[in-house]
Amino acid sequence: DLTMRLNGLTKTYLKGTPGEVQVLRGVDLELRAGEAVALVAPSGAGKSTLLHIAGLLDKPDEGSVEIAGQNVAGRGDRTRTALRRQDVGFVYQFHHLLPEFTALENITLPQLANGVSEKAAQDRAMALLDRVGVAARAKHRPAALSGGEQQRVAFCRALANKPRVLLADEPTGNLDPETSDQVFGALMSLVRDAGLSALIATHNMDLAARMDRKLRLEAGVLKPVE
Ligand code: ADP
Ligand code: ADP
Repeated sequence: DLTMRLNGLTKTYLKGTPGEVQVLRGVDLELRAGEAVALVAPSGAGKSTLLHIAGLLDKPDEGSVEIAGQNVAGRGDRTRTALRRQDVGFVYQFHHLLPEFTALENITLPQLANGVSEKAAQDRAMALLDRVGVAARAKHRPAALSGGEQQRVAFCRALANKPRVLLADEPTGNLDPETSDQVFGALMSLVRDAGLSALIATHNMDLAARMDRKLRLEAGVLKPVE
């Protein structure tokens, strides 16, 4: 049961110039439903490039991105945007919540944009907040939340529209080690509940060890880490 398949992805920046850099040289990846995969990459290895291509924010030079069996990498910008909003959730090191809206609203708004009714959107948002232990903070704006709470809310927002794939880039990288541990646990429980596939970039090998398997991006290809 494959959620995402990346096949033969290549990407070169500044092709034909002295600054040419071949970042991806044939990336293959299969993510099964319910699986969390750690992506370990030294800085500059092309982690962001890979996450952006997998998340349909950027196009590869060659290769395919299949989500639920459909090749979507080569589609037009509008189609890719629509697919991204429905099928992909993103989490970054910083929460990127909208500062003028409450936690609840930050999770409700993307659902309203996708045509979900206000009542259903709020119910889902509260259920997600409850799952990660911040339901009591639902009416607070991001600035009134701790760093760990902000990230928990960002995870809920990423899952608001029930994506098939979660892509995360150092989701706890901004937190102290103890908070990072707890907040990562909250993320994993959301991932497990939703049964989605997660590709989570991290430098933290303790967190990587809590995922189902680990891959290293090196010299433009993905290799299993023992
Ligand atoms: P990482 O996220 O692993 O640090 P990136 O994917 O951001 O790596 O970048 C990989 C390499 O590609 C780096 O050498 C970076 O300088 C280069 N790069 C990234 N984006 C661009 C771009 N838009 N134009 C030119 N070079 C880029
Ligand atoms: P919206 O316009 O509804 O905010 P988008 O379709 O633009 O949503 O983006 C969907 C997701 O992709 C969001 O989670 C957003 O954070 C992320 N995203 C959009 N553009 C970029 C970008 N240039 N770099 C990184 N992430 C992006």
